[in-house]
Amino acid sequence: MLTYKLIQKNQELLVAFYGAVDERSPAVLNELLARLNATEVVLDMEAVEYFNSLGIRAWAHFVKSLVAGRTVSYERCPPDFINQINMMPLLAQSIEILSFSSEFICPDCNHSQRENFDAHLTKAQLLNAFEKATCSQCGSGLLPDEDPETILYFKSQQKTN
Ligand SMILES: [Zn+2]
Repeated sequence: MLTYKLIQKNQELLVAFYGAVDERSPAVLNELLARLNATEVVLDMEAVEYFNSLGIRAWAHFVKSLVAGRTVSYERCPPDFINQINMMPLLAQSIEILSFSSEFICPDCNHSQRENFDAHLTKAQLLNAFEKATCSQCGSGLLPDEDPETILYFKSQQKTN
């Protein structure tokens, strides 16, 4: 079940989402659209647990309506959501991605760890940051759990300001 919390920060309205984006989400998203009167909206995606195909369809419909007359951005996109955007770039059309996280695995102790990144960095800077990620348990260098080029595909789809 998808829920959200609205947090007003100066001019911006932050919408923090929680839970699953699935076939039950259209009602929640339509209700949210109806009450949104802010023109600058930031969607905090960190606590979204998963998306199924019906949920993604509802989400695409939601953001298409949301961007009309508004400046919208995504922050703290989890790996699953970045995957969805990479498969379906229209989910981030006219929406700036501010930050995202990726999953890493330690080749020495098998610890898995999520790392946050600033999406304003260039692709080269992000690849460099991926290489510098270190294990919080043993200090070894971490490996991304997916091909970095695949993870960062969305960078080439985003319009630079
Ligand atoms: Zn380790």
